[in-house]
Amino acid sequence: MPGGSEIGASLLTALRFAAGKHRDQRRKGADACPYINHPIEVAEILSRVGGITDLATLQAAILHDTIEDTQTTGAELETHFGEEVRRLVEEVTDDKNLPKLERKRLQIEHAGQMSPKAKIIKIADKISNVCDVTHFPPIHWPHQRRVEYLDWAERVVEGLRGSSLPLEKLFEETITEARGVLGSSG
Ligand code: NDP
Ligand code: ZN
Repeated sequence: MPGGSEIGASLLTALRFAAGKHRDQRRKGADACPYINHPIEVAEILSRVGGITDLATLQAAILHDTIEDTQTTGAELETHFGEEVRRLVEEVTDDKNLPKLERKRLQIEHAGQMSPKAKIIKIADKISNVCDVTHFPPIHWPHQRRVEYLDWAERVVEGLRGSSLPLEKLFEETITEARGVLGSSG
């Protein structure tokens, strides 16, 4: 098992890789936050709230949007970070060849069959995105689209339950806050 400084170095390598891949991307909110802040937040939630210390899980969290949103391939991830990290990132990646609505439906359908490590990455991802939809929503999204996003995220997380109580609790709190801000009780 790698020691503390080795874990730190491996996380920083993943962070530098992801930051390079996302370097020209911004989040969709009006503040146009650098995209890399989102994967950093997902990894931080897993560590701070979920108490996760598993290196592959934290690296995959940092890298979780590289295949979906940049030119990165699974083979590239395997070369740099090994087979487990590649598999985890692929598990949380949508098939971009499919139409949007189908991809959203499949996230709900596949949630229950994901591996435990992929499930917790997905919960942390949804916590981060629901938080953004609440406080830094994509520009031009009407109120109804934001509410529909919450409804959909809740349905995905329904299938991810049983993997981490603290993360599930934070997701609930994040949704409750979102509904409070958006004025919808669901
Ligand atoms: P999108 O998938 O288009 O956008 C949300 C995704 O964008 C997030 O999951 C996140 O993914 C990424 N993202 C980047 N920046 C932000 C940010 N600031 N805040 C939140 N997310 C950000 O959204 P949907 O298509 O899911 O739209 C929400 C709902 O609205 C849908 O459920 C649908 O029913 C409804 N709707 C959809 C329309 C459409 O054209 N798709 C039109 C009208 C309504 P990541 O983690 O990968 O960065
Ligand atoms: Zn994400």
